[in-house]
Amino acid sequence: ATPTAILVGTGIGAELGLLIKGGDVLERVSALDTVVFDKTGTLTSGYPTVTDCIPSQNLESSNSPLANFSLLQLAAAAESGSRHPLGAAINQAATQAELSIPAAEDFYTEPGQGVSAKVEQQLILVGTETWLKQHGVAIDPSLAEKASILANAGKTTVYVAAGNCLFGLIAFTDSVRSDAATAVEALKQLGLRVMMLTGDRQKAAVVVAEKLGIDTADILAQVQPDGKAQTVTDLQSQGHRVAMIGDGINDAPALAQADVGIAMHAGTDVAIESAQIILMRDAVMDIVASIKLSRATFNKIR
Ligand code: ADP
Ligand code: MG
Repeated sequence: ATPTAILVGTGIGAELGLLIKGGDVLERVSALDTVVFDKTGTLTSGYPTVTDCIPSQNLESSNSPLANFSLLQLAAAAESGSRHPLGAAINQAATQAELSIPAAEDFYTEPGQGVSAKVEQQLILVGTETWLKQHGVAIDPSLAEKASILANAGKTTVYVAAGNCLFGLIAFTDSVRSDAATAVEALKQLGLRVMMLTGDRQKAAVVVAEKLGIDTADILAQVQPDGKAQTVTDLQSQGHRVAMIGDGINDAPALAQADVGIAMHAGTDVAIESAQIILMRDAVMDIVASIKLSRATFNKIR
C-alpha cells in the first residue's frame, strides 16, 4: 500500500473513534474473515450488578471468627484490590449496603478464575467452581443446583470460600451493549464469522449469544486465558484471518496472537497494550466502520 493511503486510512480512523497503532494494521483488517469477541466487558457493558447472595449452611453454622461476617463482606474484602468488573460489582454492593469491609492482606488474582486474600489468617477465595475445587473446596450439591438455575437465567455466578470451606454464592447480571446486536448483524452481513469466547459458563454465554444473534456453535465457554490464545492460533492454522476483541487481562494473550487485536478503551492496560486497535468510544459498532474503511482503502489499491 502507498504511504498516502495508510495516512488517509488512519486519519479517518481517528475520526471514527479508532486508535490504530501502525500503518500495516488497516491492511490486516481488510483481510479478516473471523471476529472473536470476549463476552464480559466487551459484548456486555462490563458493569455487572450483584443480584443474589446465597450463603451456604457452612457460614451460618460455622464457629470460625469469619462467621461474624456476611458473605458479601468477605467477598468484598478479597476483591478490594480487584480491577475485575465482578470485583467492582461486589464492592459496589457492599458499599450500597453500608457494610464495613474486613481488613485483608496477601491479595492474589488468577486471571479468568478469581481472586484470593487473607482475612484473620484465613484464605478467602472468590471465583469459579473449577478454581475452588483446585483449592480443595467441596461444592455442596444444593448450592451447585442454585448456581445452575441462576446460570440458566443468564446470570454469572461466583463461589466464595473461606479456609477451604464453601461459604456461598454470588450472582450477577450484566446488560449487553446497546450496539452489540447491530454490530454482530453487520459483521455477518460483511461475510465475517462471529464467535464468542468467555471464561464464564456455557449457559450464561448462551443467554448473551441468543440476544446478539451469535450461533450457539460459535460459542466457546469456560476458556482460560491461554485457551483464548490457543483458540485464535487454531483458527489461524485453519487458514483464517482472525480479529480478537477484548477488554481484560485474560484476553491479552489472545489479543497479541490475533491478526488484529482490538481492545475496549475502558479495558485494562495490558489489553490496551496488547492490541493494535483501541475502540476509543467503547462502541463495538466502530469495528464495522474499521472493516468498511480498510476494505475501501486497500481493495482499491490492490
Ligand atoms: P470473560 O472471559 O467473560 O471476560 P473472565 O475470564 O474475566 O470472563 O472471568 C471468567 C470467570 O472467572 C468469571 O465468570 C468468574 O467466575 C471468574 N472470575 C474472574 N475474575 C474474577 C474476580 N475478580 N472475582 C470473582 N470471580 C472472577
Ligand atoms: Mg472480558
